[in-house]
Amino acid sequence: MRLLEDKILKEGIPLSDSVLKVDSFINHQVDPTVMKEIGKVLADHYRDKGITKVFTIEASGIAPALCTAQELGVPLVILKKQTSKTLSSDVLQTNITSFTKGTSYELTLSRKYISPDDNILVIDDFLANGEAASGAAKLIEAGGGRVEGIAILIEKSFQKGRNRLNEAGYKVTSLARISHLAKGVIEFCEADI
Ligand code: 5GP
Repeated sequence: MRLLEDKILKEGIPLSDSVLKVDSFINHQVDPTVMKEIGKVLADHYRDKGITKVFTIEASGIAPALCTAQELGVPLVILKKQTSKTLSSDVLQTNITSFTKGTSYELTLSRKYISPDDNILVIDDFLANGEAASGAAKLIEAGGGRVEGIAILIEKSFQKGRNRLNEAGYKVTSLARISHLAKGVIEFCEADI
């Protein structure tokens, strides 16, 4: 997606050869114009796939996932990284290791938001080693749902996430695919849409 690649080149800050900072338009401040366009592009791609819900992982996936869910006219479910007193006790959980923080957390889904009738589109901001997306898929399947596809805003193609997800049988669609990242240099390979 040209708009996203241009935005990454203009505002993305490579912090190392494996971490990109995008907090001016995705992670801290959010660019609503870019998010709305991402929503339209992803909704067009998945419109005839019978998606019943969009799932994302808090917090950075929420903006693009909400825009996509709105375009598709389906609910958005936000997988929780922290449990809270308001969360029902009937939950599905899986342990995830965070790529950027190096710590682990229990990804949590209330059972009432997943059913065997569900055909889910998972959306996340980044794909690195595929931990978060695999965990989301695991919870969806544990609840009886089906994963139609995994859509990623920024895939770092030099890391193992895409292969891991493909090997597990999931279809990955990335809007921007970074083939090389170094301090000051960002290179792309061909995106899926
Ligand atoms: P994975 O689970 O695929 O190893 O990593 C994806 C998750 O880690 C995403 O949800 C994202 O929040 C975070 N992440 C991975 N790589 C980056 C990166 O280069 N920059 C930022 N800002 N977050 C990242």
